[in-house]
Amino acid sequence: MVAMTLPSHLQHAQHWIDGRETPSSGAQRIDVINPANQSVIASTPAGTIADVDAAVSAAQRAFRAGSWSRISGRERAAVLLRAAAALRQQADQLAQVESMDVGKPISFATAVDVNTAAETYEYAAALAQQLDGAVRRTPLPAHAYTQREPLGVVAAITPFNFPLILSTTKIAFALAAGNTIVHKPAEDTPLSALFVARILTEAGVPDGVYNLVTGYGREIGEHLVTHPDVAKVAFTGSSTTGAHLAELAGRHLRPLTAELGGNAANIVFADADVEQAIQTTISAFVFNTGQFCMGGPRLLVQRDLLEPMLEALAAALPHVPLGDPSQPETVIGPVATSRQREKIASAVKQAVDAGATLVTGGQALDLDGGLYFQPTVLTGVDNSAEAVQEEIFGPVLTVQAFDTEAEAIELANSTRYGLAAGVQTTDISRAHRVADALEAGIVWVNSWAMLDPAMPFGGVKDSGWGRENGPEQMESYTRTKSVIIALAPDPEAEASN
Ligand code: ADP
Repeated sequence: MVAMTLPSHLQHAQHWIDGRETPSSGAQRIDVINPANQSVIASTPAGTIADVDAAVSAAQRAFRAGSWSRISGRERAAVLLRAAAALRQQADQLAQVESMDVGKPISFATAVDVNTAAETYEYAAALAQQLDGAVRRTPLPAHAYTQREPLGVVAAITPFNFPLILSTTKIAFALAAGNTIVHKPAEDTPLSALFVARILTEAGVPDGVYNLVTGYGREIGEHLVTHPDVAKVAFTGSSTTGAHLAELAGRHLRPLTAELGGNAANIVFADADVEQAIQTTISAFVFNTGQFCMGGPRLLVQRDLLEPMLEALAAALPHVPLGDPSQPETVIGPVATSRQREKIASAVKQAVDAGATLVTGGQALDLDGGLYFQPTVLTGVDNSAEAVQEEIFGPVLTVQAFDTEAEAIELANSTRYGLAAGVQTTDISRAHRVADALEAGIVWVNSWAMLDPAMPFGGVKDSGWGRENGPEQMESYTRTKSVIIALAPDPEAEASN
């Protein structure tokens, strides 16, 4: 295993409040574990209610002071672009942090996670400059216009699987719109957020505008969501937690966007480019070791291609490089936490006990003490089986055959989730027909996981509320004010009448 070193300020980390490292009011700490060998690489504070209060009050003070919320979009954009440049400059170090924290293969952490984060700041900087209002011509004796305003303090709560990207989608857009932020990252993978906190301050984000408190969801997350000075909640995580937070936010009449679980179908028609469909199928379910709400864990394949696809998967998967995430050739790293690996193992066992056939994989591997799990393919699964209906969140693919386009659509739409879906076909009309019929927030044709900060994503059904990315996200991070200025009649005109 290649030895990587963690920046010293992350090893015994503190919160980041009011532009500086801030110790917790409590003594309890949370170990951060490298899933590639299960060694403790850092610790962060298990934040307290008092810590959250301090962070929200810093954010509220900063919002009211106006040094961020009231400056022009162009000035905010300049800061966001500096942050993007710093992310690119420190990309190798940040990718290492993300790789050690989450177990991500280093090549993906660099090319996908860090690069997407930088692109998101760049894109948000462009949107910051377009927060215009409009003059409305009305019959009123008035000059009437609208203006877009930031909301106030945004509470951002993020999950363990894409710590950097999913934090960035919230932070970059919230900042672009002029909001201030209190961010609680996942307790298991908080390190990239701590790394970025310093970058934001150095780039010129004023003190108190971005605040970071580490700790457990139930202990401090709920307090953050219900804090009286929070104006909006931005959440990514499980559907269960999302539904709970929506209830809490609703009680306080607080808007919430929530990007939740997914269980996407990847539909391969017999007219697909088969080689490409196999590669797409593999990357759709092994990317990020399957811990990817937009992954494709359900393969629906037209019957003529079923056997050839199963044979190709069984032949290819054992050769996909699995192991030490610090090696540039690694494609499948360890699962992020032991709890997650236990869930995956138990889902696979349950499916096999219920009659599924294991085509390949199925085993946990303990290379170097790391939390690995073989890429696994299950067939002979009933559509109502838990392995098909519920998200396993690991490198596990279920395979079902279909005969007609209508049947494929019905199977694809048959789960409670609706985040993403994929269609592999060379028939352009079919691609449009099926994309139109799929109940999903994002549909990929002849690809998987092509993402861009300009393209909104978010779920339908139990996959969530609202959209992140694109101008759509700016809508939900701002509000519209109408200003109507009564105009006195022209006295000269009146006199001449
Ligand atoms: P997962 O661990 O499957 O990604 P969770 O929904 O459990 O999904 O966690 C996502 C984020 O939500 C984490 O930051 C976690 O600490 C936080 N969280 C979990 N439970 C709560 C809760 N009851 N209130 C607020 N935040 C929570």
